[in-house]
Amino acid sequence: MSEDRKITEQRRRFLKLVGGGAVLMPIMGLSACSGGEDKAPAAAAPKADAKPAMDAPKMTEKAAPTKPSGMPQISEDDVQAKSFNYVHDAASIDAAKQPRFKAGQACSNCALYQGKAGDEWAGCSIFPGKAVKGTGWCTVYAARPS
Ligand code: SF4
Repeated sequence: MSEDRKITEQRRRFLKLVGGGAVLMPIMGLSACSGGEDKAPAAAAPKADAKPAMDAPKMTEKAAPTKPSGMPQISEDDVQAKSFNYVHDAASIDAAKQPRFKAGQACSNCALYQGKAGDEWAGCSIFPGKAVKGTGWCTVYAARPS
Protein backbone atom coordinates (compact mmCIF):
# COMPACT_ATOMS: atom_id res chain seq x y z
CA MET A 1 0.00 0.00 0.00
CA SER A 2 1.40 3.38 -0.96
CA GLU A 3 1.82 6.19 1.52
CA ASP A 4 -0.90 8.26 -0.17
CA ARG A 5 -3.32 5.40 -0.09
CA LYS A 6 -2.54 4.81 3.61
CA ILE A 7 -3.24 8.45 4.41
CA THR A 8 -6.47 8.39 2.45
CA GLU A 9 -7.58 5.27 4.29
CA GLN A 10 -6.80 6.88 7.66
CA ARG A 11 -8.74 9.99 6.66
CA ARG A 12 -11.72 7.86 5.71
CA ARG A 13 -11.64 6.09 9.06
CA PHE A 14 -11.26 9.38 10.89
CA LEU A 15 -14.14 10.98 9.00
CA LYS A 16 -16.23 7.86 9.55
CA LEU A 17 -15.60 8.12 13.27
CA VAL A 18 -16.11 11.87 13.47
CA GLY A 19 -19.09 11.76 11.15
CA GLY A 20 -20.73 9.06 13.22
CA GLY A 21 -19.98 11.02 16.36
CA ALA A 22 -21.47 14.14 14.84
CA VAL A 23 -24.70 12.24 14.28
CA LEU A 24 -24.67 10.68 17.73
CA MET A 25 -23.85 13.85 19.69
CA PRO A 26 -27.16 15.61 19.15
CA ILE A 27 -29.06 12.43 19.90
CA MET A 28 -27.06 11.88 23.07
CA GLY A 29 -27.61 15.51 23.99
CA LEU A 30 -31.37 15.17 23.50
CA SER A 31 -31.55 11.96 25.43
CA ALA A 32 -29.56 13.56 28.23
CA CYS A 33 -32.08 16.39 28.38
CA SER A 34 -35.19 14.29 28.08
CA GLY A 35 -33.86 11.50 30.23
CA GLY A 36 -33.12 13.94 33.00
CA GLU A 37 -36.75 14.21 34.14
CA ASP A 38 -36.35 11.63 36.82
CA LYS A 39 -33.22 13.43 37.94
CA ALA A 40 -34.90 16.85 38.10
CA PRO A 41 -34.47 18.59 41.41
CA ALA A 42 -37.39 18.31 43.81
CA ALA A 43 -37.65 22.10 43.84
CA ALA A 44 -39.12 21.96 40.31
CA ALA A 45 -42.26 20.26 41.61
CA PRO A 46 -44.90 22.65 43.02
CA LYS A 47 -45.02 22.69 46.76
CA ALA A 48 -48.32 22.23 48.48
CA ASP A 49 -47.83 25.32 50.61
CA ALA A 50 -46.47 27.42 47.73
CA LYS A 51 -48.11 30.79 47.17
CA PRO A 52 -49.64 31.39 43.74
CA ALA A 53 -47.61 33.53 41.40
CA MET A 54 -50.30 36.21 41.50
CA ASP A 55 -52.77 37.09 44.19
CA ALA A 56 -56.41 36.46 43.34
CA PRO A 57 -58.14 39.57 42.01
CA LYS A 58 -59.81 41.53 44.73
CA MET A 59 -63.43 42.53 44.34
CA THR A 60 -63.73 46.25 44.57
CA GLU A 61 -67.48 46.45 44.04
CA LYS A 62 -69.96 45.01 46.45
CA ALA A 63 -71.51 42.04 44.67
CA ALA A 64 -75.29 41.82 44.51
CA PRO A 65 -76.80 39.05 46.64
CA THR A 66 -76.95 35.78 44.79
CA LYS A 67 -80.07 33.64 44.63
CA PRO A 68 -79.96 29.84 44.78
CA SER A 69 -80.37 29.85 41.01
CA GLY A 70 -76.91 31.40 40.90
CA MET A 71 -78.13 34.67 39.42
CA PRO A 72 -77.62 37.89 41.31
CA GLN A 73 -80.73 39.86 42.20
CA ILE A 74 -81.34 42.88 40.07
CA SER A 75 -81.25 46.18 41.88
CA GLU A 76 -83.93 48.81 41.38
CA ASP A 77 -81.00 51.19 40.88
CA ASP A 78 -79.66 49.12 37.98
CA VAL A 79 -79.54 51.33 34.87
CA GLN A 80 -81.45 48.77 32.81
CA ALA A 81 -84.01 48.26 35.59
CA LYS A 82 -84.58 52.01 35.76
CA SER A 83 -85.04 52.22 32.01
CA PHE A 84 -87.99 49.80 32.32
CA ASN A 85 -89.25 51.29 35.62
CA TYR A 86 -88.66 47.97 37.37
CA VAL A 87 -89.65 47.77 41.04
CA HIS A 88 -89.43 44.83 43.46
CA ASP A 89 -92.95 45.42 44.78
CA ALA A 90 -95.70 45.93 42.21
CA ALA A 91 -98.11 46.82 45.04
CA SER A 92 -96.11 50.02 45.61
CA ILE A 93 -96.79 51.31 42.09
CA ASP A 94 -98.97 54.38 41.80
CA ALA A 95 -101.30 53.53 38.90
CA ALA A 96 -101.92 57.25 38.29
CA LYS A 97 -98.20 57.75 37.60
CA GLN A 98 -97.77 54.45 35.80
CA PRO A 99 -100.78 54.02 33.48
CA ARG A 100 -99.41 50.78 31.99
CA PHE A 101 -99.71 49.08 35.34
CA LYS A 102 -102.93 47.21 36.17
CA ALA A 103 -103.68 45.80 39.60
CA GLY A 104 -102.70 42.15 39.89
CA GLN A 105 -99.82 42.37 37.46
CA ALA A 106 -96.51 41.07 38.78
CA CYS A 107 -93.41 39.34 37.49
CA SER A 108 -94.71 35.99 38.74
CA ASN A 109 -97.61 36.13 36.23
CA CYS A 110 -95.62 37.75 33.41
CA ALA A 111 -94.87 35.73 30.29
CA LEU A 112 -91.19 36.70 30.54
CA TYR A 113 -90.74 35.44 34.09
CA GLN A 114 -88.62 32.27 34.03
CA GLY A 115 -89.54 30.99 37.46
CA LYS A 116 -92.15 28.52 38.59
CA ALA A 117 -95.18 29.45 40.65
CA GLY A 118 -93.97 30.18 44.15
CA ASP A 119 -90.40 31.12 43.20
CA GLU A 120 -89.50 34.27 45.07
CA TRP A 121 -86.86 35.25 42.54
CA ALA A 122 -86.21 34.05 38.99
CA GLY A 123 -84.71 35.09 35.70
CA CYS A 124 -86.40 37.35 33.19
CA SER A 125 -85.66 37.58 29.48
CA ILE A 126 -85.49 41.36 29.73
CA PHE A 127 -82.70 41.26 32.32
CA PRO A 128 -80.40 38.40 31.27
CA GLY A 129 -78.19 37.05 34.02
CA LYS A 130 -80.17 38.73 36.80
CA ALA A 131 -83.06 37.56 38.94
CA VAL A 132 -86.19 39.63 39.32
CA LYS A 133 -88.56 39.36 42.26
CA GLY A 134 -91.83 37.50 41.75
CA THR A 135 -93.67 40.45 43.27
CA GLY A 136 -91.90 42.88 40.95
CA TRP A 137 -93.04 44.62 37.83
CA CYS A 138 -91.71 46.62 34.90
CA THR A 139 -93.18 48.41 31.88
CA VAL A 140 -92.44 45.43 29.61
CA TYR A 141 -94.96 43.29 31.52
CA ALA A 142 -96.89 40.89 29.29
CA ALA A 143 -99.61 38.72 30.77
CA ARG A 144 -98.74 35.03 30.81
CA PRO A 145 -101.15 33.13 28.57
CA SER A 146 -103.48 30.96 30.60
FE1 SF4 B 1 -91.11 41.24 35.65
FE2 SF4 B 1 -92.13 40.69 33.28
FE3 SF4 B 1 -90.84 42.99 33.67
FE4 SF4 B 1 -89.50 40.71 33.61
S1 SF4 B 1 -90.64 41.63 31.93
S2 SF4 B 1 -89.26 42.35 35.10
S3 SF4 B 1 -90.93 39.31 34.56
S4 SF4 B 1 -92.76 42.35 34.63
